[in-house]
Amino acid sequence: MKDYWQNYIDGAFVDGGAGRIDVTNPGTGEHLAQHALADAADVDRAVLAAKRVHQSGALSDLRPVERGRMVQAMGRYLLEQIDEIAPILTQEQGKPLWESRIEIEGAARYFEYYGNQAETVEGRSIPLGRGYFDFTTYEPFGVSAQIIPWNYPIEMTARSLSAALATGNACVIKTPELTPLSNAWFAQAAEAVGLPSGAVNILCGLGHTAGAALTAHPDVNQIVFTGSVQTGIAIATAAAQNVVPCVLELGGKSAAIVHSDADLAAFENDVRWGIFFNAGQVCSAMSRVIVHDSVHDQLVERIAGVANGLKVLPGMEQPEFGSTMGAMVSDAQRDRAEAMVARAVAQGAKAVTGGHKLNRPGAFLEPTVLTDVTPDMDIAQQEVFGPVLSVLRFSEDEQAIEIANGTPYGLVGGVFTSDLDRATTAARKIRAGQVFVNEWYAGGVETPFGGYGQSGYGREKGREALWNYVQTKNVAIKLKG
Ligand code: NAD
Repeated sequence: MKDYWQNYIDGAFVDGGAGRIDVTNPGTGEHLAQHALADAADVDRAVLAAKRVHQSGALSDLRPVERGRMVQAMGRYLLEQIDEIAPILTQEQGKPLWESRIEIEGAARYFEYYGNQAETVEGRSIPLGRGYFDFTTYEPFGVSAQIIPWNYPIEMTARSLSAALATGNACVIKTPELTPLSNAWFAQAAEAVGLPSGAVNILCGLGHTAGAALTAHPDVNQIVFTGSVQTGIAIATAAAQNVVPCVLELGGKSAAIVHSDADLAAFENDVRWGIFFNAGQVCSAMSRVIVHDSVHDQLVERIAGVANGLKVLPGMEQPEFGSTMGAMVSDAQRDRAEAMVARAVAQGAKAVTGGHKLNRPGAFLEPTVLTDVTPDMDIAQQEVFGPVLSVLRFSEDEQAIEIANGTPYGLVGGVFTSDLDRATTAARKIRAGQVFVNEWYAGGVETPFGGYGQSGYGREKGREALWNYVQTKNVAIKLKG
């Protein structure tokens, strides 16, 4: 592990105007490395480099298939480097080594998918009658600013970068201050595939300085953000000042509705992935289970079994896929989650398992299952962003939907039942951008994803995401004669 990592601006690795930031390994509590910290002047240089690339046409004038091939090659580069990247990601973020590999493979898949999609962004011709010829095309916005969260630093960058490049935009990525290291491979990938200098700029900086400077920059043409509601509001406000579009993906309080006719044994696997993968630090985590009264006790027993069966260890001690969970990203996030559990218990919830930090160095929280949770409790309303599952109960189908929809969020939802009518009715009524039926996280890179309500707006993934990165131009021509 090198002990100092630089920003990547206009094709060069450089120091930061704001000095350096310490990066800690949340799995051990030990210092890991330092990363250059960008200031507003660094942001300005990166944006102007991206603008220059855009104006030169070096990306936007390429034949889409050529851009697509470069984007796909970036994904292959990540896979070739997976043995190098995974330990860095694990050490800066806390997730098990096997989860890091899954994240990197997922990131590569974005480059494969959007590289392929580059050629599909086509215009059309609209008949305007004799004497006219009309066509509609889609042009890149120009400079895409992308603010990345710490829960999936590689995958979230891949998600926006691949689609933005495929459609011909130059990019400035602001990496998260807690987990900036693994993003260095995007700089290497951009060089390896021959993208022009300045097409991809990657800098770490604090949110309220570098992040704010980037989102307020007058030469940024489009913004993508994933993170908290509060920061999303600040970013949307900055975007509005410059009248540029933004995509906001702001987390959730997503619920799985489990009916009495659900396959309860299979649901154990959904719980394992839904709330304990990445120690629950997932925007679309299954943070609530709303279960029918008649199967409540059986289901709680199964869920508690899953939680109790997880070994909680530093990520580097978890090379192989298994019943393991890593650290949370920081002590602060762990303490916040622990305090939310304590408040829930004070409000009447019962911790059937977990609820406490581990008595060892590192940001570890026990896998936690809370029962006797009611819809009005804070724990049922607020995003924990940790390995904490709240179990609520229902007796009538309508009541389950009402509870599921009873938060300001609306990212994803789930319904578990063997009755197709019941499933489709629930899918229609759940107020969320994506609904999973009988498998949490069904879907993939191909399926559009994004929020209703305070979970944000705009869609990432799928073909829908392409429209974030292009603007429509219509050309109406009066012909002679
Ligand atoms: P955050 O929203 O503050 O940070 C996310 C990113 O935004 C970081 O890169 C940060 O530097 C940047 N940022 C912060 N302020 C900014 C500003 N004014 N202008 C531009 N960029 C800015 O999230 P956090 O403080 O790291 O975590 C707090 C909570 O947010 C978590 O507990 C969790 O609930 C939620 N969160 C959600 C997601 C998600 O995937 N939706 C990801 C991370 C955090």
